[in-house]
Amino acid sequence: MNTTTFDLIVLGAGSGGIAGAIRAARHGARVAILEPHALGGTCVNVGCVPKKAMWLAAELAEAQQLAAELGFDNKPGVLDWPAFIARRQQYISNIHASYRKRFDEFGITLIAERGELLGNGRVRAGTQELSAAHVLIATGGHARRPDINGNEHGIDSDGFFNLRAAPRKVAVIGAGYIAVELAGVLRALGCEVHLLVRGERLLRPFDHDISEALREAMQARGIDIVFGHELDQVSQNAEGIHVHCGNGDVADGFDCLLWAVGRAPNVTGIGLDAASIALDTKGFIAVDEWQNTSAKNVYALGDVTDAAALTPVAIAAARRLMDRVFGGKADARLDYRNIPSVVFSHPPIGTIGLTEAQARAVYGDAVKIYSSRFRPMIGALAGHPERSLMKLVCAGDDERVVGIHLIGPASDEMLQGFAVAVKMGACKRDFDDTVAIHPTAAEELVLMG
Ligand code: NDP
Repeated sequence: MNTTTFDLIVLGAGSGGIAGAIRAARHGARVAILEPHALGGTCVNVGCVPKKAMWLAAELAEAQQLAAELGFDNKPGVLDWPAFIARRQQYISNIHASYRKRFDEFGITLIAERGELLGNGRVRAGTQELSAAHVLIATGGHARRPDINGNEHGIDSDGFFNLRAAPRKVAVIGAGYIAVELAGVLRALGCEVHLLVRGERLLRPFDHDISEALREAMQARGIDIVFGHELDQVSQNAEGIHVHCGNGDVADGFDCLLWAVGRAPNVTGIGLDAASIALDTKGFIAVDEWQNTSAKNVYALGDVTDAAALTPVAIAAARRLMDRVFGGKADARLDYRNIPSVVFSHPPIGTIGLTEAQARAVYGDAVKIYSSRFRPMIGALAGHPERSLMKLVCAGDDERVVGIHLIGPASDEMLQGFAVAVKMGACKRDFDDTVAIHPTAAEELVLMG
């Protein structure tokens, strides 16, 4: 078998793999990227992009309701799912086309095969064998299902994106990003939604006040939330899907059950043993702060590692890695501290840095909290009681802002600029010194007393 040689072979054309391939090629490397499925991986095909489209549709559904309440002479209508999904998928097809164009532009070889490491820089791709001095593993992750009887009666987030009509009554299992986002979308689009949560909180790692505000907002929208739910098994008959709880309770009559209980890395069938690549205790590929795996010149990043499972994290790590390997920047690596993130719940959440509890654990009494709860103008005009929450977590004598936590309309768009301030080490007085923009919700962040 002839071996084709490259400078870099990338396994997986998701957000991290594509960013790494393009950055390496910009530095002059000869690159092959292996992807047996659609270009763009989870984010583009079954994650961020189609989710944001559905969230935007859900926002319009809420806005229609609000418009009617505020005096517009229109009746809120229901979404034509097939028509909207055709637009969503066209948007995704355009992204695929733009990736192909960029691969052509940079001379990147795309091979529509699954890659398997053979050791020493060799990779099997279908019937071909390739070799390269450097290999990047960016194979991503997949949705998990709990190991219980009847788990096949549910769908996961991939299945959610295959829905072509609104389910009537949905059980969502989990309380993380995906659970709260999809529960919110489904509710806004008219479904009866039951959120079954094993713990006592939504978004457990988040600031407690944000979790609580989200709980209130979701319940106010009519989502039934059951905390302390001990899942036992799932069954299905002519009446629908039934969720059996450990205490004997049965929640029944669902026409859709959505698993949102976390994700697992794609580490099987890619030759990790042959290439002597070690996993960490949680089953992710173990990497150091330079994205090095246990094998020389083999790197990993994104969801196949235990980093925050966020597209921009994978992209940023990939670009810095390639700057280091091919761009002569020996110190380039991603600083994983202070990564901003948004949850596209209803209303959205934006968060960066330490929660109040984390800050108290680190700084003790030297923590000062500033917060503001207020009714956003559009809601107040309509007489809605829901309030946004903004919270600054400050530490030390100079009150450095070590955390910002937001929930309320526009939090998703508001956080990015403030994240720059946190990254630069801004203190509360810098916020105070900044003149407010009025009337906005964002001004609350610089007006806290
Ligand atoms: P998360 O890790 O965010 O949440 C998993 C949830 O499932 C938790 O609430 C967890 O409960 C619960 N859970 C785990 N096992 C079980 C079980 N056996 N029975 C019942 N509940 C269970 O995972 P997601 O899948 O929601 O998202 C994965 C990652 O993808 C996120 O962490 C995020 O990094 C990324 N993502 C980012 C988005 C964004 O940026 N907007 C959107 C979607 C995903 P407990 O709290 O008790 O552990």
